[in-house]
Amino acid sequence: MTTLLLVLLLAALILAWVLFWRQWQQDDAEPSIEHDERVSPLLRGINYLLVDKPDLALQEMVQVAKLRSEAADVYMALGEMFRSHGEIGRAVRIHQNILARPDVSSELYLQAHFALAKDFQTGGLLDRALRHYQKVLDVKSGHLNALKASLRIREQSSEWLKAEALLSRIEQLQGDQNALHRAYLWGALAEDAIQKKQFDVAQEYAEKSLALSVNCGHAYILLMSLALQSGKYDNVKNILLAMQQDAPIYVHLLIPLLLKEDIFYDTIMDYWHRQQDHELALAWMEEVAKQDRDEAITLKENLSFMPLSLRNSLRLAAIGMNDDAVFVLQAKQWRASMKHYCCAQCGVQTVDMRWQCPQCHQWGSMCPILEDDGLSRIIHK
Ligand SMILES: [Zn+2]
Repeated sequence: MTTLLLVLLLAALILAWVLFWRQWQQDDAEPSIEHDERVSPLLRGINYLLVDKPDLALQEMVQVAKLRSEAADVYMALGEMFRSHGEIGRAVRIHQNILARPDVSSELYLQAHFALAKDFQTGGLLDRALRHYQKVLDVKSGHLNALKASLRIREQSSEWLKAEALLSRIEQLQGDQNALHRAYLWGALAEDAIQKKQFDVAQEYAEKSLALSVNCGHAYILLMSLALQSGKYDNVKNILLAMQQDAPIYVHLLIPLLLKEDIFYDTIMDYWHRQQDHELALAWMEEVAKQDRDEAITLKENLSFMPLSLRNSLRLAAIGMNDDAVFVLQAKQWRASMKHYCCAQCGVQTVDMRWQCPQCHQWGSMCPILEDDGLSRIIHK
């Protein structure tokens, strides 16, 4: 509704400006619009914007803010426009000017602080962004967008416990529970604990993560890493079985971990025979080929691996399993730049596995890419 009003207001203003401009054009003796006292600062500001003089426009808009409180929506829209064009400084000045007005209404106060927070967040000044989101929340503790934006910043800053507290507030407001999201936050905490060599704490956090959601792929990887680190090899099979059940698309990510020890060849081979997981087989051959291409070829024979897609054939070629040297070179170049994972929610593709989508920030949405879309161009060119 506000947007509609805004659009109507803008349209009315532009129409007024056009009418005025026509009138002004008909009278040759009139001074230029910039010096014409009859023209309101708002119209002059729009004129400056149209002739691409944003700084002069901003000056006029400051006048407007002092003179006409009803122009606030236009003012806010300008701030949005500057931000969306990457002109963060100008957006900040506009929103600070609104807040500096003595007559600012409580609704406008909220809007301006929220907009200012977004300006700082876009500009990467996360502490300042958080401060302004907090000002919004101080007035309206259930401001969902301010909570979500603050959560995003806490995650970006690896402040997982603060992120979890915000997630709880969001869940309360929305009346639902996002167990997978929370599970990934505890997974991130567990990973931090591993970095600090607090292995018992990490074990507790990773188990908590799985208790929250059995689909949390990160938790399995961490538990496997902890099992191997502490020499609890009996756990390896259990973790594999649990993953096979509830998080099979991530099992191939275990390969680098398992191959650090020499004793899991049979365990992985058993898994391959049970599941025929091509991602796992390819990850295994690729990992082995880093050290010894001939050993990878032997492994391929032992796996009786037959690629079922063009993508998989190219991956094999990229580790040298093809007689055509030119093709191998092309495949290697492709492999070096190939995107390997895709977000099931927003479709963004990444080279490496990410537990949180870098674009839509959904947790646990990245999956291995299995299709051959667009690959035929590469081998036929
Ligand atoms: Zn996404």
